[in-house]
Amino acid sequence: MAIRLLKSEAICLNVRPFSKTSHMVTWLTRTHGCLTTPIKGAQRPKSAFLGKYDIGYTCELIFYAHGRNGVHHIRECSPLNVREGLHHAWFRAAAASYLCDLTLRTIPAEQIHDHLYVTLATALETLQHCQRHEASLAVLWYECALLQGLGVAPDFSRCPHCPEETFLTFSLEEGRGICEHRPSRLRQPVTMALHTEMRHLFKHFADTPLPTVLESARQSNRVDDLGRPEPFSGMFSLRRFLGVFMTEHLDVLPGSRRTMLDVLIGG
Ligand SMILES: [Zn+2]
Repeated sequence: MAIRLLKSEAICLNVRPFSKTSHMVTWLTRTHGCLTTPIKGAQRPKSAFLGKYDIGYTCELIFYAHGRNGVHHIRECSPLNVREGLHHAWFRAAAASYLCDLTLRTIPAEQIHDHLYVTLATALETLQHCQRHEASLAVLWYECALLQGLGVAPDFSRCPHCPEETFLTFSLEEGRGICEHRPSRLRQPVTMALHTEMRHLFKHFADTPLPTVLESARQSNRVDDLGRPEPFSGMFSLRRFLGVFMTEHLDVLPGSRRTMLDVLIGG
């Protein structure tokens, strides 16, 4: 039987050591979902793979079709876009590796997500030119787009029987608003009161291309109480809400996100 080879464009999400000189590399491929490839002797000076991949690169992969548990053997890897700009500033590199790690933790293995692939590529591409506070916006934008793309976005729809209120009582575990007409199914739901501005900002981020979001941020002169740029109202609550919501609904580590955002926003 002939050995079948597959070819796909892929974004490198994670590189971890595996033995002294080898790597296990996880990719989000455009046509075969998430998969991992062992790269033996990757760090040997004569390795054909040396310098060909790193977190945030887009590469062309050629790999063997028959894999087990999402692990495939790789034949070739050529970098298509190394995103040089990500390496010119530590905060861009930090934001990029957070986005890649978040993707790795949340996208089911070997499920094809062309839309999310494009979303991640856009976020990484744009991050290359971001200032520090813009990088935090790009992170929030990606989190909103990811929740929407995975089909687990919070349901902020309004109850047709209730008047429009500034705050929506939101059941965290059920991921939706509750009221007397749409009561919680839980005995003691954990609820949050979510401001209209925050809910609109979520919608805006989830539905608007990142370059457009950044362009409108550049035209805003808003600052927060400490004088740091906060181009949109509701950003602080959105940041906080996404942290709590993703911890509840996705396999994410709240600590690493908090640290990363703190350094982007400046404490
Ligand atoms: Zn109601």
